[in-house]
Amino acid sequence: MDASLKRITQTPIVLEPNRVWRFYDGGKMIDRLKGLANPKDSLYPEEWVGSCVQASNPGVHFRKGEGLAVIGTGVPEPIPLKSLIEQFPEEMLGAKHVKTHGSNPALLVKLLDAAIRLIIHAHPSKAFARTHLNDCFGKTEAWFVLETRPEVEDPYVLIAFKDEVSRPRYKEMMLMNNTEEMMRLMHRVPVKAGDVVYVKAGVPHAIGEGIFMVELQEPSDYSIILEQTCPAYTFRQDECYLGLDPDTTLSVIDHRVYSPEEVRRELVIKPKVVRREGESAEVELLGYDTTECFSGHRLEVKKTLSDATQDRGSILIVLDGEGKLVHNHGEIPLKRGVELFLPAAVGNHEFEARSELTIFKALPAQA
Ligand SMILES: [Zn+2]
Repeated sequence: MDASLKRITQTPIVLEPNRVWRFYDGGKMIDRLKGLANPKDSLYPEEWVGSCVQASNPGVHFRKGEGLAVIGTGVPEPIPLKSLIEQFPEEMLGAKHVKTHGSNPALLVKLLDAAIRLIIHAHPSKAFARTHLNDCFGKTEAWFVLETRPEVEDPYVLIAFKDEVSRPRYKEMMLMNNTEEMMRLMHRVPVKAGDVVYVKAGVPHAIGEGIFMVELQEPSDYSIILEQTCPAYTFRQDECYLGLDPDTTLSVIDHRVYSPEEVRRELVIKPKVVRREGESAEVELLGYDTTECFSGHRLEVKKTLSDATQDRGSILIVLDGEGKLVHNHGEIPLKRGVELFLPAAVGNHEFEARSELTIFKALPAQA
């Protein structure tokens, strides 16, 4: 076991940029968050933050290793975060987590910036993944809207069915590529910065154009493609259904009809302040009372805010401001766009703001 590697599990770990190819255009807002020169849209519209998940892009776009986060600071040579976690699971993830989830971080965090409307799709549940994919994770997800593009007048997301549709009828629409009718079947929910949307596995959904968000997901890249044609790619039939028989895969789509009231109550989550310290606060954006799959918090640091890892790993993204994170072995400068993996072994630490810090904190599946 490498002692210098073990040492870095006692400190916050700076993550290298980790953009991932996808079949849609976007990413300008990520460039902007990171302070890159000439922010622009491309087919790299997502940043997978602290990811230990291989991206499963279709066909010729599959690239081994894509999606896996790399550590390049404080180590003799760059190493994948996944391999550090596998060597030191308890230091990185905490003893309780390891008992429940092994060395799987049980979380996937993304910055996602869609320039165009994304295709309608859905994700498998844990039970489906266990039975058909030999995996213990499905892909429940949640969206935390950071910004919408000013030129988009009515930013929205599409989620859940608002009308009844039989499975054979829906399949027919898919095969006919009847996008308009498929969109009409779904709730169109207006969104703005600060909104939180919970996307249960199985629920059909699509992100509208011009939305920049943090996305939390179960750690997998399983998508069931319901709308096969998008500007940058047309999916083959066998790429749409997770490699399984279409009817088997489509059986996981949630055909429940939601009323607008049910969407507001069950799928749009109300953030709540969970603690205050002076003028600073920690806001729970989505907690384990909604899903055991993950939790998202926002730290608002006016001057200082103390925190503790509480024997679990977490991922931090600095969304705004400037300052530092002071821990037991030193300090790390913070500014917009900095991404950190915070090992469980870090323990108590404190944020200090030079200009007001806003930090997204992502926590893994409940242990
Ligand atoms: Zn999705």
